[in-house]
Amino acid sequence: MSHLYAIGLGSNRPHGRYGVPARILDAVLKELQPVAASAIVETAPIGPSLRMFANAAALIETKLSPPELLRHLKAIERRFGRRRGQRWGARVLDLDILLWSGGRWSSATLSVPHRHLTARLFALDPLSQIAPDWKIPGHGTVRQHLARLTRPRPVHRSDRGRVRSSVGRASDF
Ligand code: AMP
Repeated sequence: MSHLYAIGLGSNRPHGRYGVPARILDAVLKELQPVAASAIVETAPIGPSLRMFANAAALIETKLSPPELLRHLKAIERRFGRRRGQRWGARVLDLDILLWSGGRWSSATLSVPHRHLTARLFALDPLSQIAPDWKIPGHGTVRQHLARLTRPRPVHRSDRGRVRSSVGRASDF
């Protein structure tokens, strides 16, 4: 039986062969052979990092179960030079299972939907280009969550002059 998955892609390090992060994601998207792919969104770094971030989302159809697909994605990450221990830092490639047509999957090593999906603009934004009406189990649709994150909020007197924190980056996953 075939399943549909939404995959999140992120990169913020150049690769010797593929070049800048956007070119890395281009190459990975070709390899994943998605049924749909978002544009590649590039954002300038905030804070001490000087590296550009690139993010994208893709829908793929496969017979692999969630843990089998995770193993496959980790193998692709390794081939693109991701090393163990790079969890929070700069990374050549980060691939996440965001959603699965089977709904939820939960084990010690895998949670679907991805546990940070509803809080991460860089994941929801490209995902909304290809699956705006996909209902996140236990939540609303992708489109509704994106609207919630991007809705302008009233500025209260006590907020003036404070720097708002950003919604999150590729390296937060
Ligand atoms: P990451 O830092 O994104 O490579 O994720 C580290 C670990 O998170 C992976 O090795 C997985 O075991 C675990 N993980 C849990 N849920 C997910 C998910 N939905 N997609 C990808 N990795 C996940």
